[in-house]
Amino acid sequence: MADYDVVVVGAGPAGSMTAKWAAKNGARVLMIEKRQEIGSPVRCGEGISRSWLDSVGIKLDSKSVARQVKGAKIVAPNGTPFYLSEDMAGDEVGLVIERIFFDKLLAKDAVKAGADLQLKTSAVNLLKKGDKVTGVKVKSFGETRDISCGCVVGADGYESQVGRWAGINTNLAPRDITSCFQYRLTNIKHDPDYCEFTLGSKAPGGYIWIFPKDEDTANVGIGMQLTKLKDPADVKKHLDRFIQADPRLKKGKALEMVSGAVSICAPIDRTVGDGILLVGDAARQIDPITGGGISNSCKAGKVAGEVLAKASRERNFSVDSLRRYENGWRNLLENHLYRNWMAKEKLVTLSDDTFNKVIATLNEVGVERMSTIAILKAIEKRHPDLVKEFQDLLG
Ligand SMILES: Cc1cc2nc3c(=O)[nH]c(=O)nc-3n(C[C@H](O)[C@H](O)[C@H](O)COP(=O)(O)OP(=O)(O)OC[C@H]3O[C@@H](n4cnc5c(N)ncnc54)[C@H](O)[C@@H]3O)c2cc1C
Repeated sequence: MADYDVVVVGAGPAGSMTAKWAAKNGARVLMIEKRQEIGSPVRCGEGISRSWLDSVGIKLDSKSVARQVKGAKIVAPNGTPFYLSEDMAGDEVGLVIERIFFDKLLAKDAVKAGADLQLKTSAVNLLKKGDKVTGVKVKSFGETRDISCGCVVGADGYESQVGRWAGINTNLAPRDITSCFQYRLTNIKHDPDYCEFTLGSKAPGGYIWIFPKDEDTANVGIGMQLTKLKDPADVKKHLDRFIQADPRLKKGKALEMVSGAVSICAPIDRTVGDGILLVGDAARQIDPITGGGISNSCKAGKVAGEVLAKASRERNFSVDSLRRYENGWRNLLENHLYRNWMAKEKLVTLSDDTFNKVIATLNEVGVERMSTIAILKAIEKRHPDLVKEFQDLLG
């Protein structure tokens, strides 16, 4: 008998949700995490919406929430804002969380459901019989050991190695990568009731965000498409320039700095194999327009956990058995991800002038809900010329 039914590599949102739903439904689960503390250091803007939390069984505690906001403020390159209420603003607006507590809360839920958890334990390779994954080689406190299991879950984030070791293609083209840099700035005078997004050439191929943590502190960050950077340091330079030019921010002092990257690609072809499954950023499930990935990681994690519990009961971790996960997460997320990827391909080509016109139009006509299609349709009513590039999405 294998040591575990399921070994989950990585205790981020995707890993903890997978571990929780697998253990809750009877699987013997181990989750390993290479860091010494779950959720730290934080590499995230920490914006989420409330709308999906119930569907995946997350009950937030007060420590996990830094701020509730009323909605999103989308700012054109010329400074014109367009306001969206929380219920229309998509999966990254509504709450600004404390990932350091949020990630621990999800890991606690996984443990309560029956999962084992080991910190400072890194996966260093997979164990295989032919193409079938049979376990994972881990290193912990200088010692290397093998753990056998029915299925290894790669929940190891953007820099995932598990997929590569398993021979699953998760490679990203440079145009499908957003490079990010963020400060937690204090001593600033932002609007603490809105998550703010600035579009256009201030952040080529991406946007600048201000996500309020409290009255005088916010996560102020930038994401830029990798192909738009001449030098890796450009991303920080763009953000510094923006902060210095903004009277609300320029007296700010950084409490934290983070850099990182997110994928902004179309859904990848395959996320399962014999004895292997990928979830969250490792499976490239991030929204290609917003770069937000917490909600999709949790949604896909729940599907993964439930499928893995069934596979454990049936003692069948073959690729055919795990395809139920592949189909499940695609039914939930794939159309949206694919459409947003197509829209992103066009959005990164728009000029400041076009963004200014788009925001002006949205202020004139309003929008019924925050989805790529709803926004494009709203613009089409007044300025069909502005959206002719997007005809294939409008149908
Ligand atoms: C700057 C920035 C800002 C962002 N802002 C937002 C936002 O505002 N809203 C939003 O929804 N999303 C945001 N995202 C994206 C979001 O952070 C991710 O989508 C989310 O964390 C994905 O969860 P995950 O569990 O898949 O991966 P992660 O949270 O990255 O977790 C992976 C875990 O695996 C561990 N690990 C890695 N390798 C190994 C190994 N070999 N062995 C053991 N453990 C391993 C890591 O230590 C980590 O704990 C942002 C990302 C960045 C970089």
